[in-house]
Amino acid sequence: MTALTHESVLTCPGCGIAKRETMPAVSCQITYRCTACGADLWPAPGDCCVFCTHGSVPCQAIQQQRAASAGR
Ligand SMILES: [Zn+2]
Repeated sequence: MTALTHESVLTCPGCGIAKRETMPAVSCQITYRCTACGADLWPAPGDCCVFCTHGSVPCQAIQQQRAASAGR
């Protein structure tokens, strides 16, 4: 069992505001609309979801990948 983080702090590149959001457990969240300025956040090329690009914690799929590779 691996302890996964379910919350990530998304930082908006437009206005710089940081907001704690709960990540979906089973799927990646591709887009996120900033609640402060209304900007749409998208993943950077090579990232699977907005949490991987803009969040303090990457999505759970990436966390599992990292935990798996770190455990070897
Ligand atoms: Zn914003």
